[in-house]
Amino acid sequence: MLSKLNAVQREAASYLDGPLLVLAGAGSGKTRVITHKIAYLVQECGYAARNIAAITFTNKAANEMRERVGTLLPGKDAKGLVVSTFHSLGMNILRAEAGLLGYKPQFSILDSSDSWKILGELTNSGDKQEIRDLQTQISNWKSAFVSPMQAEEQGGNDVEKVQARVYARYQETLRAYQAVDFDDLIHLPVVLFREHPEALERWQHRLHYLLIDEYQDTNDCQYQLTRLLAGKREQFTAVGDDDQAIYAWRGASVENLHNLSNDYPRLRVIKLEQNYRSSQRILTVANHLINHNTKVFEKKLWSDHGIGDPIRIYAARDEDQEAESVVMRLMAHKFEHRTRFADYAILYRSNHLSRAFEEQLRAQRVPYTVSGGTSFFDKAEIKDITSYLRLIANPDDDPAFIRAITTPKRGIGNSTLEKLGSYAGKRKISLFEAAFESPMADELPPRQYEDLMLFCRFISRIEERADKDPCGELLDELLRAINYETWLYDSHESRQADAKWKNVQDFIDWLKRKAEQDEKSLIAMVQTIALINMLDGKNEEQDAVSLSTLHASKGLEFPHVFIIGAEEDILPFRDSDEKGIEEERRLMYVGVTRAQRSLQISYCNRRKRGKDWFACEPSRFIEEMPEDELQYAGGHKEAAPTVTKEEGKNKLANLKAMLNREGTT
Ligand code: ATP
Ligand code: MG
Repeated sequence: MLSKLNAVQREAASYLDGPLLVLAGAGSGKTRVITHKIAYLVQECGYAARNIAAITFTNKAANEMRERVGTLLPGKDAKGLVVSTFHSLGMNILRAEAGLLGYKPQFSILDSSDSWKILGELTNSGDKQEIRDLQTQISNWKSAFVSPMQAEEQGGNDVEKVQARVYARYQETLRAYQAVDFDDLIHLPVVLFREHPEALERWQHRLHYLLIDEYQDTNDCQYQLTRLLAGKREQFTAVGDDDQAIYAWRGASVENLHNLSNDYPRLRVIKLEQNYRSSQRILTVANHLINHNTKVFEKKLWSDHGIGDPIRIYAARDEDQEAESVVMRLMAHKFEHRTRFADYAILYRSNHLSRAFEEQLRAQRVPYTVSGGTSFFDKAEIKDITSYLRLIANPDDDPAFIRAITTPKRGIGNSTLEKLGSYAGKRKISLFEAAFESPMADELPPRQYEDLMLFCRFISRIEERADKDPCGELLDELLRAINYETWLYDSHESRQADAKWKNVQDFIDWLKRKAEQDEKSLIAMVQTIALINMLDGKNEEQDAVSLSTLHASKGLEFPHVFIIGAEEDILPFRDSDEKGIEEERRLMYVGVTRAQRSLQISYCNRRKRGKDWFACEPSRFIEEMPEDELQYAGGHKEAAPTVTKEEGKNKLANLKAMLNREGTT
């Protein structure tokens, strides 16, 4: 079982005498240790798959892990194995134990735009920054296990006092909606386990061995959850790389790597040093770059793959030309080397950078997928349909109720909703429940009341069948009944409507496939959809170029990688302080180490913001890479000959001077 591992990896995979931390650089086989260890536990040590849980960072990584385990274990042996993200593990725990926390198992999961709306209503504020701060503050409180009451008692400055009051009302609102937010998915299980030892025991009994990937990015809540689940048995393997810690901004703490050795005196640490992923050149560049950070743990990394091609640094004139040149190069490379589209990845710091590349790829008819984007599940039409599904799963979900009842419009306007809302508010019940109470019949004009009841009864009818009838059938019926297609074409320009309707159909097809594959009911599907958050995108199995944020590329690998937009103020992100710069450098390190065989890093000499052009500086991280391994190219669209670094620099200087002149004329 372990023959495909090197000696140190094998030791890590077979070590069962206590808690284990595998601390090692990129591409050294950490994830491979996890997948092989799962197979080893089942086939050699008599563990039942259902007693093992592997926890990864994104749904995409979880899917990939499931696949990798699938090739090692026959299907029947893998039955019941938990491979999930922290969030979906938390969701499953909550669903099973909802009653203990006063929730019903069909609770809704709100995404950050839903909670944004709620906070906006609670504060009655249009100030985006204020709401953003509130969101961050509430999230921090939750991660630190500070209840609304404690937050109020803590006091602090005036702003914090107000925030604490909103926090309390926010939690009340979530309860009323029978909803939880993303933070709750991890926070609430910890609360549950602390308050209900019998529930904890149930889960400890269920999960005997835990394996956690990307450990460097766990936050305090996740750390506590792991700790509780591991319990006295202390049987777990965590793997991680402090150089790839890129979620400090979301409260993740590399400290958790240190905490492990404090909390578990028996902890064994194993280091891996051989990289099996990348060419030597790619590794040299990566090592050089990350050496500019202060070291937490000393690590070595080497590869016996060939030296490989130099890293190409490409200077583009502007955004459009960068996209054009990357896509052209990609296509020529593919043609020459007879590779697949899926062998290529285009990675970037921020979502908006993908736009020019998506345009180019579309123009050249190159298939691509976007992950880490807000792209698919945040599209209005997808959220419209999802609001119906959420409402069917949980009629008390007020945000879903409001969206569904008003899209498509069905004669129910603001005044009806306001009356309904104020009645529901007084009675402290959901809008849906309020609609069925008799006083509403007098409050509303007969016509509006009738429309309202029509809608609510329709939702009830589908709800009754949601657990039994096949998901696909229900979805088709729902779409027909709400006349969504007609509404789309009536209220949008036809090309736009075409695109939207196609998205809806894709979505429905995907839901049907997924429900069938995982044998899930509509209700279970709804909670799954909610979890496909901004980190994941839609998972499609086709030969396509991957467009991804650097954050979402973690753990993945591609033969050929393009990192784009490598400019100051983008990567590193603008206004990063010293700590921020180190995190940005780790992000660049993550990007570089995704590449197996070739890597191109590009930047633009100028960018348009609004109507004006601005000159851009190449990222300092390029400067920090060893010159001998780099090959400079680009500068102009017409001439892209390879030049030395010195020439490249001169050229760059000339170009900048030129652009500055251009900018002033
Ligand atoms: P990252 O830090 O980026 O998540 P990782 O440490 O998890 O990287 P893996 O993804 O597990 O590394 O491994 C990198 C690549 O090297 C994979 O393609 C894996 O299959 C391969 N690999 C790892 N160990 C071995 C080995 N002993 N023999 C052959 N290939 C290996
Ligand atoms: Mg990995």
